[in-house]
Amino acid sequence: MKIILLGAPGSGKGTQGDLMTKTYGFPRISSGDLLREAVEKGTPLGKEARAIMERGDLVADDLVIKMVEERIAKPDCAEGYILDGFPRTIYQARKLEHIDQNHREMVIEIYLPDQIAVDRLSARRICSSCCTIYNLLGHKPAAENVCDICSGKLIRRDDDKPEVIQDRLRVYHEQTVPLVDYYKTKTNYFQINGEGPIEDIFARVRKVLDKAIDRAER
Ligand code: AMP
Repeated sequence: MKIILLGAPGSGKGTQGDLMTKTYGFPRISSGDLLREAVEKGTPLGKEARAIMERGDLVADDLVIKMVEERIAKPDCAEGYILDGFPRTIYQARKLEHIDQNHREMVIEIYLPDQIAVDRLSARRICSSCCTIYNLLGHKPAAENVCDICSGKLIRRDDDKPEVIQDRLRVYHEQTVPLVDYYKTKTNYFQINGEGPIEDIFARVRKVLDKAIDRAER
C-alpha cells in the first residue's frame, strides 16, 4: 500500500503519519524531513534547497523526485509506505505513478481551514534531534522545550515564522490543491476533517484506512 497524505502545511500530516506508522507499521516518508536532513548535512541537494525552503517555495520537482525515489527503494518500504508532503505537484504525482507501479495507491486528504493552519503552525515546535512534532496549543512536551522521547531540544522551524507561513499556504493553494481534483477522479481518495483533538482525527484516519486495507485484502 502506498498511502499519500495530502493537506495544507499545519494540517497534521506528520502527526497522523507517525500514528499510522505506529499502528500499521508502514514507514512515514516526509520529503520535508529528508530535505531538512540534507540542509543540515550540507549536501549538494541541501545547499540548493536551503534558500528555497526558507522562503516557503517548492524545491525543484526533479531533485525531490530523485530523493524520494531513492528512499522508497529501501527494504523497509517493500510492504508499503506513507508519503507526507510528496507529491506536491501534478508533475510529481505522475512521476510517482511511474516510479512505483507495484503498490496500491490511496490518498487521504486532511482538510483544515487556512486560519486554523496558521494558528497551528505558529505554535508548532519540532525536536531538533528526532523530528517529533509538538504543538504548544494542543500537544505540549512535558518539560518546556525538551523532547519527551529523546530529550532533544525543541525548535521552531525557520519556515514556521509568521512571514513565511502565508507564502507556504499560497504555494499550497496554487501548486498542490490541483492534486486533490487529480486524485479524486483517479484513485482511492478520502477526505477527512483535520479539526479537533489528535485522537479524534486519528480515529477518522483509521476508519478509512481499515476499510481500504480490508478491501485490498479481499
Ligand atoms: P514540509 O516539511 O512538508 O512542510 O516541507 C518543508 C519545505 O520543504 C517545503 O516548504 C518545500 O520548500 C520543501 N518541500 C517538501 N516537500 C516538497 C516537495 N514534494 N516538492 C517540493 N518541495 C518540497
